[in-house]
Amino acid sequence: MAYQISDDCIACGSCAEGCPVNAISEGEGKYVIDADTCISCGACAEACPVGAPSEA
Ligand code: SF4
Ligand code: SF4
Repeated sequence: MAYQISDDCIACGSCAEGCPVNAISEGEGKYVIDADTCISCGACAEACPVGAPSEA
């Protein structure tokens, strides 16, 4: 299962820089993960200051 980013996201961009497969991009008001690209490594969850990414 891919990770998802909740509405807690403050759009800081930290997760996108650390994603090994570039699955994260800036959406409207928050960042979003492309579920088809995400390999569920968990790096985004560790990088996020507000705990927004979680496994779906
Ligand atoms: Fe990228 Fe890993 Fe987060 Fe998936 S879990 S979006 S591969 S950093
Ligand atoms: Fe949003 Fe967290 Fe990613 Fe920052 S690290 S853009 S708060 S999901």
